Amino acid sequence: MTDKENIKKTGGSDLMDKVVSLCKRRGFIFPGSEIYGGLQNSWDYGPLGAELKKNIKDEWWNRFVRQRSDMVGLDAALIMNPKVWEASGHLATFNDPLVECKKCHARYRADQTPGLAYSVEKLSTGIETKHLAVAQGTKCASCGEIWFLGKTLESPKQFNLMLKTFLGPAQEQANTVYFRPEIAQAMFVNFKNVLDTSRKRLPFGIASQGSAFRNEITPGNFIFRTREFDLMEFEYFINPKDWEKTFEYWLTEMKRWLHDLGVTSEHLHFVEVSKEDRAHYSQRTVDVEYDYPFGQKELYGLAYRGDFDLKSHAEKSGADLTYTDPEDQKNKFIPHVIEPSFGLNRSILVALLEAYDEEKIAGDEEDVRVVMRFPKWVAPVKVAILPLSKKDELAVIAKPLYAHLSKLFVCDYDETQSIGKRYRRQDEIGTPYCVTVDFETIADKSVTVRDRDTMKQERVLIAELDRYLSGKLTS
Ligand code: ATP
Repeated sequence: MTDKENIKKTGGSDLMDKVVSLCKRRGFIFPGSEIYGGLQNSWDYGPLGAELKKNIKDEWWNRFVRQRSDMVGLDAALIMNPKVWEASGHLATFNDPLVECKKCHARYRADQTPGLAYSVEKLSTGIETKHLAVAQGTKCASCGEIWFLGKTLESPKQFNLMLKTFLGPAQEQANTVYFRPEIAQAMFVNFKNVLDTSRKRLPFGIASQGSAFRNEITPGNFIFRTREFDLMEFEYFINPKDWEKTFEYWLTEMKRWLHDLGVTSEHLHFVEVSKEDRAHYSQRTVDVEYDYPFGQKELYGLAYRGDFDLKSHAEKSGADLTYTDPEDQKNKFIPHVIEPSFGLNRSILVALLEAYDEEKIAGDEEDVRVVMRFPKWVAPVKVAILPLSKKDELAVIAKPLYAHLSKLFVCDYDETQSIGKRYRRQDEIGTPYCVTVDFETIADKSVTVRDRDTMKQERVLIAELDRYLSGKLTS
């Protein structure tokens, strides 16, 4: 132990409760529609959460789209022609198995409820048979009824997760449309448009970010599973002969991204999905799983989808979605696809869980410092300007300094409470640097810069401050 003792409690609901409470208290994430009693697991991103979310989205876009010559972006409509969902198979098969307690009518996902063992057997004929076993003594989490299959627990039904609405003034079957449950299909449907206009050659990718909607049976665990969520993903089109090496390449890139997001590699698991559990068209799928306080569960996914999607859309729409090899004009084929899929909300959740830290300061019985150790690029506020007092003689220096620095970085200006309390507030929101303007500043034209992680303070000339901070924030 040095002068600070790390007392972060890892794992368990303790960490989750602390993060959820900090998010509410400091303005990262609020329960959705809170003044009306909320709306079943919906969440709103507050002033700091909005910045954090934007930082992750923008960095992803810069890294995977703008800084690569083999990737282009797409920003597509949320509601697509329902034929898209017929071709993709979502209308027929985007289901979760649902079971219902006969006593209280609470509904659960059969494949994710403790005490229930749900399995799907795929026969060589293509027919699937579903099995459910209920462990002896399993009780309904809602009413406590002991479950017996067929007696107190209904047999599983397939529940389609597509969220329906109607387009136009008449609420008729003919006008039924669906909010997209994933963003991938827009990239397949626009493949030809993008190919013709961008003149890209294989291999190349189409990337997209945006909302997706799923009528989840059991949303929960804060922002882990919600009915409305954000995805960032790309479809990387390849010649099928290259699929294995391209898959490995994107797996490495996903690991690099997670490292840069601040995720400890020991908390990650790269799980090869077995043949039985993979989609029938996929020759390899890796689930990227994370040790959340509520268990090891999916964070991202990486799938080799073959030519299933383009082929299916070509058949159903009649459009020609083939690619002509520029070296050999006779070689026409439907490109294959590798799909790395990054859930934005789960990225935010792991960034919050990884960053949360508590340390006890030696010599101070009561004092526990809560600090969000975000990587600097993730931190919602980069620099806080803290005049030591509210007096005008400091404000005339601090306010123009804030005006200048906030053109370069996201800044906060805080002149209330003691300087110690203000430092702690900034630590709790993860601000990497605090700049204190004090009475000496008037004479020496310098400020004190305090580092969030080391708590070390340095005197820096105001004239050199933006260069100093730029250097630190990009290192
Ligand atoms: P899960 O098994 O957790 O339901 P999934 O396998 O259905 O996830 P995909 O269809 O592969 O998930 O979706 C891609 C990514 O979207 C996931 O890796 C995850 O990050 C995110 N995601 C999926 N469903 C939700 C949800 N309901 N809320 C928040 N993020 C989600």
